[in-house]
Amino acid sequence: MKHKQRVYNFSAGPAALPLSVLQEAQRNLLCLPGAGMSVLEMSHRSSWFEGILHAAEANLRKLYQLPDRYHVLFLQGGASLQFSMLAMNFLRESGKSADGRHADGQQADGQHADYVVTGAWAQKALKEAQREGAVHVAWDGKPDHYSRVPTASELKLTPGAAYVHITSNETIQGVQFEKTPDTSGAPLICDMSSDFLSRPIDAQRYGMIYAGAQKNAGGSGVTIVILQDELLNKAPEGLPSMLDYRLQAEHKSLYNTPSTFAVYLVLLVTRWLLEEVGGLEHMARINDQKAHLLYEAIDCSESFYRGHARPDSRSTMNVTWRMAEEALEKEFLKEAQAQGLYELKGHRSVGGMRASIYNAMTLEGVQALRDFMDEFRKRHG
Ligand code: PMP
Repeated sequence: MKHKQRVYNFSAGPAALPLSVLQEAQRNLLCLPGAGMSVLEMSHRSSWFEGILHAAEANLRKLYQLPDRYHVLFLQGGASLQFSMLAMNFLRESGKSADGRHADGQQADGQHADYVVTGAWAQKALKEAQREGAVHVAWDGKPDHYSRVPTASELKLTPGAAYVHITSNETIQGVQFEKTPDTSGAPLICDMSSDFLSRPIDAQRYGMIYAGAQKNAGGSGVTIVILQDELLNKAPEGLPSMLDYRLQAEHKSLYNTPSTFAVYLVLLVTRWLLEEVGGLEHMARINDQKAHLLYEAIDCSESFYRGHARPDSRSTMNVTWRMAEEALEKEFLKEAQAQGLYELKGHRSVGGMRASIYNAMTLEGVQALRDFMDEFRKRHG
């Protein structure tokens, strides 16, 4: 069902949500059926809210077929806080002070992590980890302006790394790993913020997955962390409580007040994925179809539209492209908006256009953009 005032929203995040999810949230805003109150008014210690939290977790477990040895956490602070938190838990050594020395003044040794730098978000993750310990850059896509992901042979992983960190989808540059890279046994930690729940994955290949919910899993305010028990047990003692995965897991995300409504939205979105979309394989098929429509417009445009990502690294979530002149890009954005196609401006660091086509963006919306791209090119090309 369409809503006559709603535009096609290609925002990179917070991003479009499924209409049926918004409608259900709206229907239940004043009173969750049976509970007598809004989710917004509900104690996080109530059995009602615990039910919501458990159901959201159960849906995530089902979608990713997570075994029991994985914890599912609902934290705050965005994926940005995870950049620091994961390094504090898995890179920082117990007894090591902020200047990198042990209490006895000796330089700490041993622990290091490998980072794969595929774009702006990986750079930020790297920067925060460097504050916590020794970090090795296993690959950096800077010479190619972050237009691709590395091949397996280009990855320079180091033996004994505490973990390998990747960004499965770079939201700004629009490059994505098609396959999970092999880490030769080191725990793989993945920032999956912008392709979380967009396709099936083999979750057991990961030590930890984290994602802000505001692209594919709900609204802003909650970050989902999926963490393997073996890795969790490596965390040092004495971390600040809120930044300690072990404590968050022991308290099942209820150590303090979680972002209750955001968790509720995750429940509705994951239910939509399971019941309306029919699971991640279906979702991936639709996402591939949507991405194909836009990349085809770029490829058939005789360089009128110039894709940023190399074809073998193209993201199915964020499609990025430029045009020959900035003035034409401005005109494109203006005309697109007049046709109800919103938020297509690329990130300032890349320029040009970016269409974020997460799960909730319909095929119909992407087709409308494709038609506009073809038509705009005919008029201006
Ligand atoms: N990682 C990626 C891949 C992102 O796209 C974003 C947000 N755009 C972040 C991390 C940061 O997320 P947050 O704003 O939730 O901290």
